[in-house]
Amino acid sequence: TTSFGIEEALEQLGVEEVNYGTSTGTKWMPGGETISSYSPVDGKLIGKVTTTTREEYEQMMSTALEAFKAWRVMPAPQRGEVVRQFGEELRRLKEPLGKLVSYEMGKSYQEGLGEVQEMIDICDFAVGLSRQLHGLTMHSERPGHRMYEQYHPLGVVGIISAFNFPVAVWSWNTALAWICGDVCVWKPSEKAPLCGIACQKIAAKVFAENNLPEGISCLINGDYKVGEFMTTDKRVPLISATGSTRMGKIVGRTVGERLGKSLLELGGNNAIIVTPDADIKMTVIGAVFGAVGTCGQRCTSTRRLIIHESIYDKVKDALVAAYGQLSIGNPLDENNHVGPLIDKDAVAMYENALRKVVEEGGNLVVEGGVLEGEGYESGCYVKPAIAEAQNDFEIVQHETFAPVLYLLKYSGDVENAIDIQNGVAQGLSSAIMTNNLREAERFLSHAGSDCGIANVNIGTSGAEIGGAFGGEKDTGGGRESGSDAWKIYMRRQTNTINYTTELPLAQGIKFDL
Ligand code: NAD
Repeated sequence: TTSFGIEEALEQLGVEEVNYGTSTGTKWMPGGETISSYSPVDGKLIGKVTTTTREEYEQMMSTALEAFKAWRVMPAPQRGEVVRQFGEELRRLKEPLGKLVSYEMGKSYQEGLGEVQEMIDICDFAVGLSRQLHGLTMHSERPGHRMYEQYHPLGVVGIISAFNFPVAVWSWNTALAWICGDVCVWKPSEKAPLCGIACQKIAAKVFAENNLPEGISCLINGDYKVGEFMTTDKRVPLISATGSTRMGKIVGRTVGERLGKSLLELGGNNAIIVTPDADIKMTVIGAVFGAVGTCGQRCTSTRRLIIHESIYDKVKDALVAAYGQLSIGNPLDENNHVGPLIDKDAVAMYENALRKVVEEGGNLVVEGGVLEGEGYESGCYVKPAIAEAQNDFEIVQHETFAPVLYLLKYSGDVENAIDIQNGVAQGLSSAIMTNNLREAERFLSHAGSDCGIANVNIGTSGAEIGGAFGGEKDTGGGRESGSDAWKIYMRRQTNTINYTTELPLAQGIKFDL
């Protein structure tokens, strides 16, 4: 038996002991092998999901292609109304879904609820956007001509997601893709498949209540091999993939090979620059939450602190003291700050990082270690660690998906800190803590941070859905969620209309017959 109302939550969400993993909406297909989902919270089996077979994929895809024909001609504001209802269902089921996220993935219950709130927020955003999918009009060089551009639905959007945001990333994509007139096929992470089952049931209910066909929201399950059904499939014009840089390079290459579009949201190696003008109290709160929140398993987690030498010891001491206050344990218990890592492989990677940083000459100022004993039976609980290091250490250059924070010292001007911040392969999130206007503006300028996200007096983790989310370099270059990120889910068309009785050619070309 499980605690914290997990059983009730699973029941409310319709998640069973064994779940079919392939769905076109209300219809589910039996599938092949099963994936067992164990909770990192207590090591218990939560449930099983069957994986998608090739035949089932084909059947699902033909349903999706059929559904697209109906969905794309429904006026966008009407599609928005369906997404509004989906957001209402999420409001109703926020607590059980937040609980399942927390129990299956291991993040705190508050963060689980926060993830569902992001889903609700993107639905609201998408509803408004459904009346605004606008192109531009331009002046034609030809007399009596009108020229404009419009956005049309794209087709089947394939979504491949990571374990660490097992529900929000799907909705960032679907809420926009749906109002844009696309149908979606989702392959959740094989490490959090039950979250996928729960979400699919919520969406399917709304589509069915609106008498919409099967195939607008589809689910497939399995590991990378099932992901490859989609990445190699020409019928899927856009693949939105979230996960490691290693995965993104393979997916980008595979989709590029067939000239499909890919939206890649990959790893980060995020830093906060702490200048002599920083508010130390704010810095410590931002850095600790950024480094240990979600047990260091956010793509925007703070991995590096780049601290000016004049305040280095002060910041270090404050951090060590703050780490001493952290309570680690069951993330469903709101008294705990830090929950478990996703699985034992992640624990091994964490231990490896701590070994490597010492081998390379680093110094652990907060030691870390794997926790054992009562409450830690899953073997996935670790102590957040802090190491003094150099930016060019191999391990510092690498994204370790765990709560390991590296302290790096800089001297002189803020430019030196910006060079260190930019001196990694990844380019997702970055921040500066300073009350100095010149430093802040330098950091945000053309010569500043090279990341997709650059914050002032805020940490690196936690973004709002209103802005476009994503990063540069090895982070993959994709943008999703707010701003004009919707455009990638549509195809752009330029239209020119001649309302005269002449046929003048562009560029003044004469062609007399
Ligand atoms: P992962 O790369 O192991 O897996 C991600 C997904 O890709 C899974 O669904 C997996 O089955 C699938 N996949 C793997 N190889 C594939 C292939 N060859 N073809 C098709 N699909 C394939 O990542 P993970 O461990 O689940 O997640 C952690 C990583 O995700 C971290 O690097 C983190 O920074 C990144 N992440 C990035 C963002 C972002 O928005 N930039 C958000 C969340 C997580």
